[in-house]
Order: sequence, then C-alpha cells, then structure tokens
Amino acid sequence: MRAVTVTPGVADSLRLVEDHPEPSPEEGSILVEALSVGICGTDHEIIAGEYGEAPPGTDRLVLGHESLGRVLEDPTGTLQPGDLVAGIVRRPDPVPCPNCAVGEWDMCRNGQFTEHGIKALPGFARDRWRVQPRFAVGLDRALAPVGMLLEPTSVVAKAWDHIERIGARAEWQPQTVLVTGAGPIGLLAALLATQRGLAVHVLDRSTTGPKPELVRALGATYHTGPVSELDFAPDVVLECTGAPVVVLDVMCQAGPTGIVCLTGVSSGGRTIDFDAGALNRALVLENNVVFGSVNANRRHWDMAAEALTRADQSWLSSLVTRRVPVEAYAEAYTSEPDDIKVVLEFAS
Ligand SMILES: [Zn+2]
Repeated sequence: MRAVTVTPGVADSLRLVEDHPEPSPEEGSILVEALSVGICGTDHEIIAGEYGEAPPGTDRLVLGHESLGRVLEDPTGTLQPGDLVAGIVRRPDPVPCPNCAVGEWDMCRNGQFTEHGIKALPGFARDRWRVQPRFAVGLDRALAPVGMLLEPTSVVAKAWDHIERIGARAEWQPQTVLVTGAGPIGLLAALLATQRGLAVHVLDRSTTGPKPELVRALGATYHTGPVSELDFAPDVVLECTGAPVVVLDVMCQAGPTGIVCLTGVSSGGRTIDFDAGALNRALVLENNVVFGSVNANRRHWDMAAEALTRADQSWLSSLVTRRVPVEAYAEAYTSEPDDIKVVLEFAS
C-alpha cells in the first residue's frame, strides 16, 4: 500500500512509498481506510529535517498526524464498518508518569510519550492504519469533508478547557477574547470562543486572502497591526503565532484577571529589549495568568468532535483551502501564500 514517508533528520527525504507493509495487528484491532490527512507546520519541520523520530528499528517515518478514515473492521464492536474515525496522536509514556497513568498524556512529565507521524510511531498518511478503541474517536458522518480538522480542534479544545479551569479560581465572567494568528489553530480557537457566546477579536498580519472574511463569517472582528494599538483589554487571549513580539504584547494587553494561553511554538534565538519588571508588575497587580498549552487527551478529542458537529459545516470546509490527491503529494507539502489548511486525500 501507499505511504508518505521521510527519513527524520534528513532534509527533503519526502517520498511516496508504493509497497509499504499493511498495518500490523499489534497497532490495534480497528482497521481503518485512510480518507484524508491534514498538513501543518510540524510536518514541514519534519520534512526540513528539523524534527521527527522514526519508529525503533527503522529509519523511515510515515507522516501524518491529522487523520480521518473510515472503519473497515472493528471486532470489538466499538465502531461499525463505515463509521468515520480519527486516531489520537499521542500515546502515554511507558513508565508511566503520574499524568500518563491517568490518561493525561497531553501533560506528560517525562517526555517519553510517542506520537503518530511525529515521534517513534507511524503516521496516518498511508492507505490503511490500525488503532486501539481507546485511541479511536468516532465522528458524525456529516463531518466527512472536514473531519481531518479534529486534531487541530482537539488542541484548541484543550486550551479552552484549561482556560476555563484557571478562570474557575475566582468569580469569572469573561466577555472579550483576543486570538492572535488566523491560521487553522487561531481560527478554530475563535470558533470555540464564539460557541461560548463571547465577543471575539482575531488579529493577524494578513490584509488580503481568505482570513478576514473567515473571521467576519464567525461574527468576530478582524484586526491587523500591532496588539498595542487595540482599543480594548481582553479577558482571554489565545496566542497562536509564537511570534516573540506578539507574545510579549498580548501579555501586556490582557485586562485585569486576564488569562493568556500560549499555543504557538517559537523557534527561539531572537532577543528583544524588554522591560520584564513592568510586565511582572502588571501580571501581579492584575492577578493575570500566562500559561502554555500543547496537545490534547481523550476528553479534549471528544469535546472537539462535539464542537465540530455544532459548527457551520460550510465555514469548516472553507478552512480547507487546497485538497491534493496523494499521487501529487509533493504539492501538498509545498506552501502557497493563501493556504490555511492543506489536505492530502487518499480514498474518497
Ligand atoms: Zn508521561
């Protein structure tokens, strides 16, 4: 069968393998036919040789962590043949740490977790894959065109879950949300904000392309320009750019008792002249919280499936700006200016 693979650590080693072995039953009892795989920045980093780890005993890694497939067989009866399914990306570490021991692998403490298509487990960009029921998330059949958005939605569902847990430390009645970055994560974070009835503002540097209209279609307000020129102090910030200046600016812009969730991974190496004392003073005197959030556990995947089911399906479809058949895989992994989410299509 076909599989999109790389040799981790080797730049431009991306290849479509035609004779990849069928998935081993040890991978899980549920056999799945791949429908599509979403592509994100992590895939680009792996292809550039900057990230990624092959499974033990091999030198090739199958890519793909944003999965959507159709169940071919499930002897456990958890799912039925024909059901739509996504595979959870991360597996708990083998020790396990206290968090992985209770299913909170998104909060792994020792870093020994594995991840499909990223770290020591084969990804979902292959014609067929297998998954254990515990890591298989069933999707409403109406989500067939957009179900590969479940993985990025799980990431923002976790972010919102933790924002709300932090908010519960005191009386909390948030009204305004600022999302920085209108890529897939930012737009999905804004979607979940509108589902909570909040006034949503999205800031991005793009002045053209599909982003301004996608934000307006949510009933949210689109901004460009520096964060410091915004005329409001948000109760919640979801920072989805990882751009150092934006990160610092949103920490200063948040209102009293504000919660700032950082989701963007910066590359590091850039230094900025910054008044850390003034920031500390503002955070302390306003009881603000700044925290980082990554990955998602089973509960968040289920929350994400519910959020996607409730969303406007045509809006979700418009996040997918290119659909590329697997035969033309190299095009899917080449960025174009107005890309939001690019999807590699297997069966249909
Ligand atoms: Zn762990």
